Amino acid sequence: MARAGLLLDRDGVVNEDIGYLHRVEDCRFIDGVFDMVRAFADRAFAVAIVTNQSGIGRGLFGAEQFEHLMAWMRGEFERRGTRLDGVYHCPDHPTAGIGEFRRENPWRKPGPGMLLQAAADLELDLARSWCVGDRASDIAAGKAAGVGMLVRLDRENGSGLHQADGHWVAGSHAAIVQLLERHLAPGTEAPSSIGQP
Ligand SMILES: [Mg+2]
Repeated sequence: MARAGLLLDRDGVVNEDIGYLHRVEDCRFIDGVFDMVRAFADRAFAVAIVTNQSGIGRGLFGAEQFEHLMAWMRGEFERRGTRLDGVYHCPDHPTAGIGEFRRENPWRKPGPGMLLQAAADLELDLARSWCVGDRASDIAAGKAAGVGMLVRLDRENGSGLHQADGHWVAGSHAAIVQLLERHLAPGTEAPSSIGQP
């Protein structure tokens, strides 16, 4: 039977978005991300990162640097008692990519390609899956893929949780865990508003 998945943006959700992160020594994890991923994994969700990485296509860093960073990042999740089941990235950019990297690609968010590939590989039930990102393009990609729960992390939003235009806005990773717990509690629907900021 297909599993639910957590389809997770990377920059601004897993790590601070410093712009084209590609070195281990520059990676700063955001508070609460490991607890959040553990909460999903403990409930039998598969967890995959889906991340636009046009820095590769722009020639700012190489695919091998990305792979090295992500191998290290996977290890950091495992060291904290959880895991990433998949990592998907899109190196292309339609205008700023160099050479073969300058192209439209449905994998690039807001396209749904990475999420659909993750769903195929990990045998996900997208309707029961969650997409967590920090930008409108993450929400658009999740919606285009048919992901059931769309959550935008907005750390300017205090610790609150509210609904906006077909998705949830959460002020922290802990608020997303709260939403998960309420959503999965038997016999209850997720409330339309929890802890307005
Ligand atoms: Mg992001």
